[in-house]
Amino acid sequence: MSRQIIVGNWKMNGTTRDSQALVQALLGKVIADGPEVVICPPFTQLALLASALEPSPIGLGAQDCHKDVSGAHTGDISPAMLTDLGVSHVILGHSERRQEHGELDETVREKAVAAAKAGLTPIVCVGETEDQRESGDHFDTLGWQIKGSLPDGFSGILAYEPIWAIGTGRAATTEEIAETMTFLREELVRQFGEAGKTIKILYGGSVNDKNAASILSIADVAGALVGGASLKAEAFLSIISAAS
Ligand code: PEP
Repeated sequence: MSRQIIVGNWKMNGTTRDSQALVQALLGKVIADGPEVVICPPFTQLALLASALEPSPIGLGAQDCHKDVSGAHTGDISPAMLTDLGVSHVILGHSERRQEHGELDETVREKAVAAAKAGLTPIVCVGETEDQRESGDHFDTLGWQIKGSLPDGFSGILAYEPIWAIGTGRAATTEEIAETMTFLREELVRQFGEAGKTIKILYGGSVNDKNAASILSIADVAGALVGGASLKAEAFLSIISAAS
């Protein structure tokens, strides 16, 4: 089995002082032959952390990017600007961006194409709402999101993040995750054939130091996308140590 990957999504958190303190607490504790670790601070901290992390086994990711290389897009950041800083990964289509910025599957797909073209690994998020799960529409929703958000030839990472589990302290159960992993894998193989077998699938949604070991041992879970708990060094390090 390949190394699992633990991605920390700091969201809109992290002054210069907080970010440096958090990274200092992780450095030296994250080892090169453990699971892969990537932290995704806000754009404003990327340049600073790129030098703080060099050299170290901790990778650097961004939380979004634009689909264009440059141009008249006030407030946006292009994939090339991220690679220029030494960023290797980019989270795309997080439910908070879909909800707060009206991002559609098509937008996410275009960004995934642009990110890959620039040499970034896109981490594309999909996930159902609580209503969709309760009404039994969750697999349909996920199927449509995968079809719409992942471009042809996609070779990035898929993150399954049920919206009702994000930031609520209520992670999906191991049964729910296991069943959804099976569904997602089938969808990926239906869409991408043989290549769909190797796309890594992460789980995200209230992963913490207590539930990480059981979530990370579910078949086909290639790692975790961690929000709140990635802001606390001790909790994030425990999650990393629960990964293989
Ligand atoms: C996330 O925002 O991607 C996330 C999973 O958040 P949390 O771990 O806080 O639920």
